[in-house]
Amino acid sequence: MEKMNIPYGRQTIDQDDIDAVVDALKSDFMTQGPRIPEFEKVVAEYHGCKFAVAFCNGTAALHACYHAAGLKPGEEFITSPITFVASANGGLYVGGIPRFVDINERDFCIDLGRIEESLTPKTRVITPVSFGGYPVDLKRLRTIADRHGLTIIHDAAHAIGARRDGRSVSEHADMTILSFHPVKHVATGEGGMVLTEREDLYRKLILFRTHGLTRDPALMEENEDGWYYEMQDLGFNYRITDMQCALGTSQMKKLDHSLFRRNEIARFYHQELADLEWLKLPDYTFDTSWLDNSAYADLKEKPRDMHAYHLFPVQVREVSERKQVYDYLRESGIFVQVHYIPVHTMPYYRERYGFKRGDFPIAERFYAGEISLPMFPALKAEQLAYVVKMIRKFK
Ligand SMILES: *Cc1c(COP(=O)(O)O)cnc(C)c1O
Repeated sequence: MEKMNIPYGRQTIDQDDIDAVVDALKSDFMTQGPRIPEFEKVVAEYHGCKFAVAFCNGTAALHACYHAAGLKPGEEFITSPITFVASANGGLYVGGIPRFVDINERDFCIDLGRIEESLTPKTRVITPVSFGGYPVDLKRLRTIADRHGLTIIHDAAHAIGARRDGRSVSEHADMTILSFHPVKHVATGEGGMVLTEREDLYRKLILFRTHGLTRDPALMEENEDGWYYEMQDLGFNYRITDMQCALGTSQMKKLDHSLFRRNEIARFYHQELADLEWLKLPDYTFDTSWLDNSAYADLKEKPRDMHAYHLFPVQVREVSERKQVYDYLRESGIFVQVHYIPVHTMPYYRERYGFKRGDFPIAERFYAGEISLPMFPALKAEQLAYVVKMIRKFK
């Protein structure tokens, strides 16, 4: 078999995506036009959610959520150490103090059983991350959050389209963020969105996206005339463009196909690699039998509980071998990645907030052995066969 070059994630852009962007370019609006609410509506409806606010990226969306949640300087928020730094950085932008709760070994998301013991009188926000696309148990978290008056910001950057107990990723959370970075399921280049059922939060998010300005007469304290606008809050320019939203709306049409393919690929890895002693596969209990007897279009009529598989995280059991496996796969042209370096071990977090290595041993152990295998819908059968063959050849 000849050497192939395979990334761990990659966008799929078809001619209809290109046409949608060209149409936007030829229209009257490059930004602040009709394609923004159009995209928001498509994503909100997909999730059965009332409000959606698109942002220039997922990190800006997180910043907006922490702001809308009313997190004040010196107040605390909790998130998972196994995430992209943005989940926690969003809280730092508003002066929040980061706290982490270790992950559980089964799904690599925050351990819900250990949240209550980690609360202090200053905890205001909890930011669970549906790591790799595994939908975190938000129903259970909602009960905990309500007991302690916490706002839930669900970081679903990996999990668009995932469902659990018949519910989408936006249900039970106060706000849910999505990312449209090209390695994520829906690509707009850069882009993000917040979903919410709460009108009060929606209004804050909208203001925050555009300098804290409103032109809505119903919301203004005064109104001198048609030219008038008011700055009611300190916001940013966190807007997304019409070209990006045109692409996003077009990409949403492919989401069900992407989810279907990702689940197929995950099942393939399980079938082909489960017997390797030196490698630990994720041990999720998601039914994949539907892959055999449904076409992916079927997801529209029959949404089902599923993992969104942004990542397929495997662990090298002997962590001292991880580097060797990583180098070997990279040399074989398989551009695996490692997700993630635990946030609390980053110099900035250690030096500013006093975290140290050893604080969250399960997360650190997971990181030490982790490798994310290629996972994206355009992966071809030959490429998958190559990945499996090379992994099996390692030992
Ligand atoms: C991608 C990602 C984000 C948002 O990132 P942007 O690149 O700013 O869109 C947030 N959280 C997690 C866990 C992510 O993977």
